[in-house]
Amino acid sequence: MKIATVVGARPQFIKAAVVSRLFRTDPDVDELLIHTGQHFDYNMSEVFFEELDIPKPAYNLGISGGSHAQMISRMVVALEEVFLKEKPDKLLVYGDTNSTLAAALTAVKLHIPVCHVEAGNRFGSLDNPEEVNRICTDHVSSMLMPCTESALRFLQQEGLGGRSHLVGDPMFDAFLFYGEKCGGNSEVLLDFEGKRLKRPERYYYLTCHRQENTATDEKITEILRAMNELPFPTIYPVHPRNRERVSRICADGRFPKLILTQPVGYLTSISLVKGAEKIVTDSGGLQREAFFAEKQCVTVFDLIVWPETMVDNRNQLSAAEHTEILKKLSEKQTVDPSYKPFGDGKSAEKIAGLLKRY
Ligand code: UDP
Repeated sequence: MKIATVVGARPQFIKAAVVSRLFRTDPDVDELLIHTGQHFDYNMSEVFFEELDIPKPAYNLGISGGSHAQMISRMVVALEEVFLKEKPDKLLVYGDTNSTLAAALTAVKLHIPVCHVEAGNRFGSLDNPEEVNRICTDHVSSMLMPCTESALRFLQQEGLGGRSHLVGDPMFDAFLFYGEKCGGNSEVLLDFEGKRLKRPERYYYLTCHRQENTATDEKITEILRAMNELPFPTIYPVHPRNRERVSRICADGRFPKLILTQPVGYLTSISLVKGAEKIVTDSGGLQREAFFAEKQCVTVFDLIVWPETMVDNRNQLSAAEHTEILKKLSEKQTVDPSYKPFGDGKSAEKIAGLLKRY
């Protein structure tokens, strides 16, 4: 059976890594890995393939940048050519990027069944580009694999329950599997010029790249201001898209407690999560990793993405406003170790099994 897996962005490489590992040992499955090229810098793409031992993609379409319409339409045209040539039996996609939507649309038009992992998450706002990608992808998919009960409920409400299978979160599998392999605080952090930076013993971990927080100076400046008022330094690996803005905002030295770095590889990111005092983010993946590592998290966003994490102050939403971020960070979290809403760490096995049986 030939399964085409289409990936394009950092979080998809991580999820695909744990599932592709199983396909590689299965003589009945021939996985065709296609990279759209949406993320292309070495430290946003290649490093994940190296560290997570993902085979080199059979195709790299080299498509990134431009407006959403330009990116998606170029991907659809290029993917159609690949699918017509390779004739996959099924398409496997992850998450909610433009690559996910482009691949799902292309496949459904060619009558190739679409299988969507991380289906069903809903913010309730079509202003968010990922929400649009998720809804459209879910509704053209033949098999939906939500990570959590709440995502499954959304799918049921939308009449998609009959095609849905709760599988748990492959990010949890990855966290458990690769978490064993990360090297404590020996990993190298690099500044924007490639100079090595020392990792402080105690630090906060910040990631912030959503367009809602970084499209103008105002919100990201508030977030950086909050981090600068905390007792320990903050490590902030900056997404390439935001490097120019963040460098400019910090150029006058007003936020000396911030350690700005290039994006880090997954193993380093996991080790930063595990060693952090607390985490501030707008990333869906990092919120869950904070939860897995039992680190308190503040998510700077208006809408709840992962409701399962929003218990006992473990993950709280905050506006991009420095006093609110600091207030939320100062509240105590409690952790119930028996509460495991992201599955049992065997999500990849469930995904691979469902794909084979379907
Ligand atoms: N991550 C990483 N390097 C970084 C920042 C984040 O490897 O410099 C990891 C992080 O640990 C998580 C994933 O990237 O596993 C989250 O991806 P991202 O924030 O790009 O996307 P989202 O989760 O918001 O979809």
